Amino acid sequence: MNYISTRDPGVRVSASRAISSGISAEGGLFVPESIPKISLDEIAALAEKDYQGRARDILGRFLTDFTAEELAACVEGAYGEGFSSKDIAPVVKMENGVYVLELFRGPTCAFKDMALQMLPRLMTTANFKVAKGIETVILVATSGDTGKAALEGFKDVENTRILVFYPSDGVSKVQKMQMCTQEGKNVAVCAIKGNFDDAQTGVKKIFTDKAIAEKLKANGKAFSSANSINWGRLAPQIVYYFSAYCDLVKTGAIKCGDKINFVVPTGNFGNILAAYYAREMGLPAAKLICASNKNSVLTEFLTTGVYNRNRQFYTTISPSMDILVSSNLERLLYHIAGSEKVKEWMSLLASEGRYKVDGETFAKISEIFAAGCCDDEKTKATIAEKYGKYGYLCDTHTAVAAAVCDSYRKESGDGAVTVIASTASPFKFTGSVLEAIDGPQEGLDEFEMADKLAEVTNIECPAPLKGLKDKPIRFNGCCGNDSAEMEKAVFDMLNI
Ligand SMILES: *Cc1c(COP(=O)(O)O)cnc(C)c1O
Repeated sequence: MNYISTRDPGVRVSASRAISSGISAEGGLFVPESIPKISLDEIAALAEKDYQGRARDILGRFLTDFTAEELAACVEGAYGEGFSSKDIAPVVKMENGVYVLELFRGPTCAFKDMALQMLPRLMTTANFKVAKGIETVILVATSGDTGKAALEGFKDVENTRILVFYPSDGVSKVQKMQMCTQEGKNVAVCAIKGNFDDAQTGVKKIFTDKAIAEKLKANGKAFSSANSINWGRLAPQIVYYFSAYCDLVKTGAIKCGDKINFVVPTGNFGNILAAYYAREMGLPAAKLICASNKNSVLTEFLTTGVYNRNRQFYTTISPSMDILVSSNLERLLYHIAGSEKVKEWMSLLASEGRYKVDGETFAKISEIFAAGCCDDEKTKATIAEKYGKYGYLCDTHTAVAAAVCDSYRKESGDGAVTVIASTASPFKFTGSVLEAIDGPQEGLDEFEMADKLAEVTNIECPAPLKGLKDKPIRFNGCCGNDSAEMEKAVFDMLNI
């Protein structure tokens, strides 16, 4: 199967090339030229397999230039001991008809692990085919969670190096500790004076600097990025929608063929887009419900057809969803409306910050997607309610989805079995979660709050977070945010 660019159907490349390059030269995103179909019998057979078996099957349909052995090695390496559940992505019942798909059982306790444990392995396998002998240097600017998940994913993966820049004033104490104590012989972490925008702007400059690229090339290296527009990050996410469905079939909660709904807390539209691919393949899914926080640009788009980024940006207690431009939406628009329209809308988005899709496109989108949003107060109230009524402790992102799930079910009368994608451990956002169930806290640092949350709920703090405060600091460098200083930091970290 080949991949084409959302902005130029003339660009056709193999899966390996798509994963190795990340983004198409003219700025489009790689999409599969056709979506492979799966039958109900095949889904029933998947239900008999473990998570790794399901992953090999689904990924094999998309990554057709990977051998079965290569895929098996990637899957075994990614989904193993680093996960705290042998089911990898377990499904837990929350209340009648509503289940939670826990995507936070990986090494950093956030759903980014599901993709970032896999991407480095897919990338080295792809590079072996299309860019032999080159060492890949992953450069990341992070506001917190992605950086840590990328570090864990690339840690000690052959022929890769990873350098993470984080804003000195922009990450929490736990996030900083997670990164500064990172293990692995191919990793480096550096703070940048300033905020996330400073870090991101600096990294983008280095990424596109021709002289730096030349120097890397002369040393047998090339930059690549681990961000969520890479097909190698999206494909692994399709797997867990099938896995959740299979688990529900296995436990008898549904019969194979029954249609279910999914609610997904959404930022960059990667997670919910993976659900769309699963549905197009033939997974019996009725509605895909997109949940947003107060940054409700997607709720507006999915209910009116107007995408408008010209709006106030809010900082919320579900920060991984604080986003105004959801890059992966471009892939959905391509599949529904084609590349001519995508080009037109993306150029309007760049020039006006706004576009409106045509009626036919909007009708097709509305058939598949529903949407809703909720503010911080409602998020906290939902954490308290779900914990109080059902004993289920949600993190802030999952709670946004749970709130949107409730209002969707109430307003639509749609009582189909529903799966909520849970994207982070409650212990990653301890302050807000503890406040929601135990009132405002005073004088406790993040580590003390985690201890208290464990004590109050009798739920154990995940091991990777618990052991953090006693781990040795490996990286405490901080550089200025001008290009010269960042460039020097990059060369120092690479020893070139
Ligand atoms: C990244 C992230 C999201 C958003 O996922 P997208 O694929 O960008 O839509 C939601 N919740 C958490 C905890 C995340 O880290």
